[in-house]
Amino acid sequence: MLTCRQATQLLSERLDRPLLFLEQADLQIHLLACRSCRRYGKQVKTLSQLAKEFKNFDEGK
Ligand SMILES: [Zn+2]
Repeated sequence: MLTCRQATQLLSERLDRPLLFLEQADLQIHLLACRSCRRYGKQVKTLSQLAKEFKNFDEGK
């Protein structure tokens, strides 16, 4: 099982690159068991969406 540190790292990396199947599976298992990493996953996702929207906004100028 991943540590929380490994899980949060994968959660951030997932935004920049596709995870390997094994990483994906390990991460899912950790997220099922760990509530704080689930919450972290939601936060990074929201942040990255916001960052994308700002970027689009900039490029639209
Ligand atoms: Zn965790």
